[in-house]
This record gives sequence, structure tokens and C-alpha cells, in this order.
Amino acid sequence: MNRQEVATLLGAASAVDPKVPQPDPDVLDMWAAILDDVPAEVGADAVREHYRHHAETVMPADIVEHWRAVRRDATERRHRAELTARARQLDENGLRAIRDGITRVSAALAAARGIDPEHAEADARRAFLAVPCPYCRAQPGDRCTGPGGRPLTKTTAHPARLDAAFAAMTNQGNQ
Ligand SMILES: [Zn+2]
Repeated sequence: MNRQEVATLLGAASAVDPKVPQPDPDVLDMWAAILDDVPAEVGADAVREHYRHHAETVMPADIVEHWRAVRRDATERRHRAELTARARQLDENGLRAIRDGITRVSAALAAARGIDPEHAEADARRAFLAVPCPYCRAQPGDRCTGPGGRPLTKTTAHPARLDAAFAAMTNQGNQ
């Protein structure tokens, strides 16, 4: 906050607190020096919060403390957002592991049945087609469809269908 902003702040505070210092040059110099890194809107917010809870006159330290709390909250919010993003990344890694697992399981099944492992990929593709898609409701034998009912082009099937196929193949493998 600069001297002008401090003067505005003290003027506003004096409306609720007659003991607020008069904005003479020395007062403005001191307050502006102490609050030089505090944004004006945070200062105004700090004064409002102060007089909502306290009867005594606001001091620069109250405003600095409020500014510290605001920054601490922002840091915590950022930290939480990072944790959420990391959890989401783990989910995607988990899905990729399941997809890898399908390929491994289908290769193992192919070997157990005496099928050429080269056909394992085709076998895996058939495995997706053997179960309905819980996401887009594609029936067994039909490809997954995206918006507008067009077949998916970037992926083989919806992750939910891959999960279902994996579960089906794992059960099959246990029998
Ligand atoms: Zn689907």
C-alpha cells in the first residue's frame, strides 16, 4: 500500500473508530513503509475483518497478519490442487496398467490355449468386443461409439469396457 491508499484506509476506519490515527504525513510514511508489500484490497479486507471482531483500534500488525493468512490460504489451496492433479495422474496410470494387464493376460491365455502369441493382440481386441460397454452401451461385437454415434478412432474402447473385459478375462483365466 502507498501513502494514498493508507490515507483512504485510515479515513474509512475512522468512520467506525474515532481513535484511528489522523492521516498526517508522519503517520502515512510509517504505515506505508510497514505495509508496502500489502495490496490495497487486502488492507481494506483486513480492516473490515478487524472491526467485525475487535473493539480496539486496528494496528499495522493486524493488517500484516491478515495478509500472511491470505497468502498461507493461497499456498494451501495450490498444494491441495497439486495433490488432486497427482491423484488424477495416478488414476490414469492405473488405467494404463490395466490395459497393459489385458495384453499380458491375453498373451498368457493364448499360450495356454496353444495359440500363436502373435495373435494375442487380435485376441485382446476380440476380448474387448466380447463384453458390452458400460459407458456407451455398445453391445458385444459392436465397436464403442463416441459423440454422434461414430466409432472411436483414437482408442480401441472406453476404459470402462477395458475394465469389464479385463475382469471377464481374469475370471476366465481362473476357471
Ligand atoms: Zn464404449
